[in-house]
Amino acid sequence: MKKDIKSLSLAELEADMIEMGEKAFRAKQIYQWMHQKLATSFDEMTNLSKEIRNRCKERYDLTVLEMVERKVSAIDGTQKYLFRLEDGNVIESVLMKYQHGNSVCISSQAGCRMGCRFCASTLDGLERCLTPSEMLEQIYRISQISKERVSHVVIMGTGEPLDNYDSVLRFLLLISDPYGLHISQRNITLSTCGLVPKIRKLAEEQLQITLALSLHAPNDEIRRKLMPIANRYSIEETLAVCREYFEKTKRRISFEYSLIQGLNDQEEHAHCLAKKIVHMNCHVNLIPVNPIQEREYRQTERAEIDRFKKVLEKNGINVTIRREMGRDIQGACGQLRKGYQSRQKGRKESSEI
Ligand code: SAH
Repeated sequence: MKKDIKSLSLAELEADMIEMGEKAFRAKQIYQWMHQKLATSFDEMTNLSKEIRNRCKERYDLTVLEMVERKVSAIDGTQKYLFRLEDGNVIESVLMKYQHGNSVCISSQAGCRMGCRFCASTLDGLERCLTPSEMLEQIYRISQISKERVSHVVIMGTGEPLDNYDSVLRFLLLISDPYGLHISQRNITLSTCGLVPKIRKLAEEQLQITLALSLHAPNDEIRRKLMPIANRYSIEETLAVCREYFEKTKRRISFEYSLIQGLNDQEEHAHCLAKKIVHMNCHVNLIPVNPIQEREYRQTERAEIDRFKKVLEKNGINVTIRREMGRDIQGACGQLRKGYQSRQKGRKESSEI
C-alpha cells in the first residue's frame, strides 16, 4: 500500500526523502506545496524535477477530496459542503462566517457509534474513521473553493474525535504547523461527548486547543436518556476530568448544552447544572436543539431559553446562546450526508425495479 503523504509530519517526510536518496530540503518543498499552496497533484509542484515527481507518484497517495454538493445559506452566508472520499463514503463540512473570522467545522469520522439520541450523524452507526489528510482536506478544499481565509477550526461535524484519537492528534499538529496553514491552536475547538480516559490523555499532549464537552443534561438520569456514553461515565467523573484538563492546559472548558423542550430545559435543570459547574473555569454554550426527522425532539421557546440563561448568569457562569447558522441548508450535524445517502439509496432502488 502506498503511504498517505499528506498525513506525514515534516520530520517524517524528511526521513523519507533521505531514505529515497533525495535531499532533505525536498521534503519542505513538497510539504509547503501540500499544506500551504494546497496543491492537488504532484505535477503542480513545479520546483521539483519530473523525476522526483514521478518517484513521489509511485511511492505516495496524495489525498484530495472531491466536492459533490455545496449549499450556501441565503440567510447568513453559511456554506455546507459534501465531499466524497476515495472509497465512496461521503462526509460533510461547514464554513461559517463570523465577525472574528471564518470557521470551518469538520467531520472526524464517516458516521458515528456514540448513539446520541438527538443527532442525525449516528443513525446508521460508524462507517470508518477519517485519516489526518481527510480532515485537513476538508479545510483545504473549502478555503480554495470559497476563496475565504480560514482562521478557526471546530471539530464538531460528524463523528466522535476522541474515538479516532491518533489521527485527530496528528491532524491537530499538522493544521497548526508553521510550515502548513498555521492555524493557531487557540482557534481550534475539539468537541467530545465525553470519553473520560481520552480526555485525560489529551490533557497531557500540551496543546492549546479548546475542549468542548457535550453535557446536555444537569444530572445522570436525564443524560442517560440522551447519550449512551452517560452509562459509562457519570457527570461527576466527566466534570472531574474537565477540571484536570483545565489544570494542565489552563484552557477554559466550554460546555455544550442543547435545549430540548420539556426534557432538560426547565428552571430546576438550570439550577442543578449551575450547582455542578459554578466553581469551574468554564463557559456554557446553549444550543436550541435542531430537530431531526427521525426523532420527536422540539426546540425550547426563546423566552424559556433566556430564562435558563439567566439562572446560570445569576450564578456567575458565562453563557452564550448559539446563533443558529444555515437553518435553510440543513444545518444540524449529519443532515446533509443523511439526505444524500437516502437519495442515492432511492436512486439505486428505483433503478433495480
Ligand atoms: N461527537 C462530538 C462532536 C460532534 S457533535 C460531540 O459529541 O461533542 C457537535 C455538537 O452538536 C455536540 O455537542 C452534539 O451533542 C451536538 N448536536 C448533535 N446533533 C444535534 C442536534 N440535532 N441539535 C443540537 N445539537 C446537536
